[in-house]
Amino acid sequence: MARILVTGGAGYIGSHTCLELLNAGHEVVVFDNLSNSSEEALHRVQKLADKTLVFVKGDIRHPDELDQVFQNHQIDAVIHFAGLKAVGESQQIPLVYFDNNIAGSAQLFKSMEKAGVFTLVFSSSATVYDEANHSPLNETMSTGMPSNNYGYTKLIVEQMLEKLAQADARWSIALLRYFNPVGAHQSGLIGEDPQGIPNNLMPYVTQVAVGRREKLSIYGNDYDTIDGTGVRDYIHVVDLANAHLCALNNRLAAQGCRAWNIGTGHGSSVLEVKNTFEQVNGVAIAFEFAPRRAGDVATSFADNRRAINELDWQPQYTLKDMLADSWNWQKQNPNGFN
Ligand code: NAD
Ligand code: UDP
Repeated sequence: MARILVTGGAGYIGSHTCLELLNAGHEVVVFDNLSNSSEEALHRVQKLADKTLVFVKGDIRHPDELDQVFQNHQIDAVIHFAGLKAVGESQQIPLVYFDNNIAGSAQLFKSMEKAGVFTLVFSSSATVYDEANHSPLNETMSTGMPSNNYGYTKLIVEQMLEKLAQADARWSIALLRYFNPVGAHQSGLIGEDPQGIPNNLMPYVTQVAVGRREKLSIYGNDYDTIDGTGVRDYIHVVDLANAHLCALNNRLAAQGCRAWNIGTGHGSSVLEVKNTFEQVNGVAIAFEFAPRRAGDVATSFADNRRAINELDWQPQYTLKDMLADSWNWQKQNPNGFN
């Protein structure tokens, strides 16, 4: 068993991963500035696991706070979720994104090196792939210049980590390229709790269902897809959390830097998601068709065979499970953690 530092561990994917880490017998130290999350998520994680974790409120841009964590706790490996993720906001305030996601990550890697910790799992995104590639996307395909500043920060950190591993053989790094994380823990105690108007499809749908939003706008119905709406690879957040444990095990026994896609390998259209949500949960979702959203591609889904073959990982949950669990969380927590 290992002691894992989880940056951004109070957030959506981080909290689900902390739970799986505790369930697997690991010790967990969360480092989070709570800029987009609530400490309540960590209370609930501990309740669900019936185990405790250590929470340190801190910011990855502050070297002293990071160094202190490594001094106070004998850390074996780091899972790095901390960062900002709102695509639209990243276009308005790029420097804030460069500072948090790029400079903050570099600061974390410096503190890791200082502390002699070289095992890392990094939250990357399918957005790093060149848009010219056709789905299913695999890890040998070229990366490209992402259409927004958020995606750009993910690409830069991936490239930094590749160069770091090339320069120093002590590093062992997993780049996990997430497709579209949705769903929630089956208990309904933890889930996605975005601030303000959701940018992503799933929290928008559940907020319409719970009466917080009037109707869903479906961005584009003239794509070259099965029904004209955008196709994405939705992955249950618990499957995604487990992928981090698998990547961690892989990296604790290897060197170098390697990327893995984390998706189901199956694409679903926006209309399919909406219709399946209605069918599974018995709730109607008011909607309208709206113009395409800038920067969106028609279709994106994963070739996930590398993760299945190399990480001993397998997604367990179906789209129906994801939609039932998202609704279960939202229904029990209409205003999120507040
Ligand atoms: P989230 O916002 O719920 O979690 C991020 C956490 O990081 C939050 O708890 C926030 O308070 C914390 N944080 C932000 N800046 C920080 C800083 N400077 N110092 C310390 N803590 C800080 O987001 P999430 O959906 O759980 O995403 C986790 C990671 O996965 C992010 O890096 C995100 O970019 C990446 N990712 C997410 C998705 C997605 O669709 N959710 C897709 C691909 C990649
Ligand atoms: N989408 C939509 N309405 C919304 C939010 C998203 O129609 O309010 C569509 C979007 O155009 C894309 C899919 O849902 O085809 C997934 O979008 P999301 O923002 O969740 O993830 P992305 O793949 O863009 O990271």
